[in-house]
Amino acid sequence: MTHSLPRRTFVGATLASLSFLPLSSYAAQLSSSLANSLSKAERDAMTPPQVLAELKKGNERFRSGKMASRDYLAEKRASAAGQYPAAVILGCLDSRVPAEIVFDTGIGDTFIGRVAGNVVNDDMLGSMEFACAAAGAKLVLVLGHTACGAVKGAIDDVVLGNLTGLLARIKPAIAATKFDGEKSSKNAAFVDAVARTNVSLVIADIRRRSPILEELEHKGSIKIAGAMYTLTNGTVDFFD
Ligand SMILES: [Zn+2]
Repeated sequence: MTHSLPRRTFVGATLASLSFLPLSSYAAQLSSSLANSLSKAERDAMTPPQVLAELKKGNERFRSGKMASRDYLAEKRASAAGQYPAAVILGCLDSRVPAEIVFDTGIGDTFIGRVAGNVVNDDMLGSMEFACAAAGAKLVLVLGHTACGAVKGAIDDVVLGNLTGLLARIKPAIAATKFDGEKSSKNAAFVDAVARTNVSLVIADIRRRSPILEELEHKGSIKIAGAMYTLTNGTVDFFD
């Protein structure tokens, strides 16, 4: 599970020099990282905590400006015949929180669902059940973020077409957030506290409304986790 060669070396290996590496060495490098498209064997060998650890490492690469050197065309070729993603991530619609980038993952590594306020409905639950029960993903990650416009909209009781119903899904998090201070959308600390509560409530919702995912987690086949992304510094703060 150790990196015996610099990352640039094994990315190059996928293109040209694979024959120079012992196969076992090559597999060991890939299995310890989400930096290239995962094979079924590599994904299946990972435990849910290992998948979480890989996302943490990927975020460290992102925020330190040392992202993996990638060949998307090679990843496209490698993954076209089959996908073996290790995680399903539910994130916000916000243009500033692209999960593949902030976790530095490649094509075929993660299922991503995005909707304003990272809320769940039946379709999103069905997508997560497909990801884990049918496609073998090991981690469900709910990713909230700071300064979330959807959370601000819920706090402000914004009424706008279909958005009204979406914001209603966030409102329980406002009531559930214990906070001393001004409870308005102008108070960044309150907005972020509500966003964090929202992630926790969404996780509880997933467990309650999806017996399939709850059972997989109970068996240890998957992990359901939460995290908050900070727009200003690129850091993902994992809840556990
Ligand atoms: Zn948002």
